[in-house]
Amino acid sequence: MLKKSFVLIIMAACATAVAQSQGAPQAGRGGRGQGDQFPAAKQFAESKQAQQHVAAAMKIAGTDLAGEARAFCTPTGPQRPALVRQAAGQAPEPDRLLEPIRLFENLYYLGFSDVGAWAIPTSDGIILFDALNSGNEARDVLAAGLKKVGLDPAQIKYVIVGHGHNDHTGGGAYLQNTYRPRILMGAPDWTTHVANQRPDRPAMKRDADVTDRQTVTLGDTTVTLALTPGHTPGTIAMLLPVKHRGRTHTALLLSGTQMPTRASLAAFEHVFNDLAKKQNAETALSSHPDILVNKLPMMEAIGRQYPAGPHPFLYGPQRFARYLDIVLECGRARLAALEGSRAG
Ligand SMILES: [Zn+2]
Repeated sequence: MLKKSFVLIIMAACATAVAQSQGAPQAGRGGRGQGDQFPAAKQFAESKQAQQHVAAAMKIAGTDLAGEARAFCTPTGPQRPALVRQAAGQAPEPDRLLEPIRLFENLYYLGFSDVGAWAIPTSDGIILFDALNSGNEARDVLAAGLKKVGLDPAQIKYVIVGHGHNDHTGGGAYLQNTYRPRILMGAPDWTTHVANQRPDRPAMKRDADVTDRQTVTLGDTTVTLALTPGHTPGTIAMLLPVKHRGRTHTALLLSGTQMPTRASLAAFEHVFNDLAKKQNAETALSSHPDILVNKLPMMEAIGRQYPAGPHPFLYGPQRFARYLDIVLECGRARLAALEGSRAG
């Protein structure tokens, strides 16, 4: 009970912090004063250039990706359900602790309905992506979850952090002190993370900075890291090999999809076109379910029964390349609307 209200407070605090630091959308309220991350609904609808990009996205989508294009081509793009509810003035949904989900043969989701962390077991230890909200969660959800699926948390060799907000870093100090893994994060987010520490929210000791195209190899597994600034200045993405029924596929883990400046858009174009497509990526995953391909109901279905046939999250390289193009076109649409409003 205590823990649950603690989690809700953290969630509310995180949402508020995001709203304050990034001018989060005031969905449904329209008008100006929405900060510099997202255009207002009116700006988005009335920008001719923005709507040309939306039309381009819908054309790429055809019928099979139309739902994805509609979700991405909005003034904010897809948002965490908790933020959407908050912006609409609705009461928060209770955050649920989930059983560990084996989403692929070598990829586990450990965490809650709102946010989780990822574990990749390799032949020489575990790579963890993200660290949940707190030391207690790192112990009771991450470490306990690994044990539940037969893995030893003492084998965590790397913790890679998608960006510096507390719902991804909160358990990092506990993991660092308990298991002594190497910890990697984008350089600007390390700086903010260390500066923002509080007695109840100890920071990790600064370890390695992520560089673009950096590879991390542990045993039989190599992941590629890339810089995708926008949601925060140090937001990163990771390409990772996922195994399904004896074959290896490439998944793209995105820690943010905002591209509110030309430089940010260029970084995403580079990562999508020069890295993800070249590695034949087939799916996009987020630590927050319901934003990218990993929708929560399907995650829970996979948790109950691992797919015996084709994996529903694997779009195939060609279809997924179109997915990436849609994400870029919708990003260009938002940016065009933002630039129109900045100029005016
Ligand atoms: Zn965040």
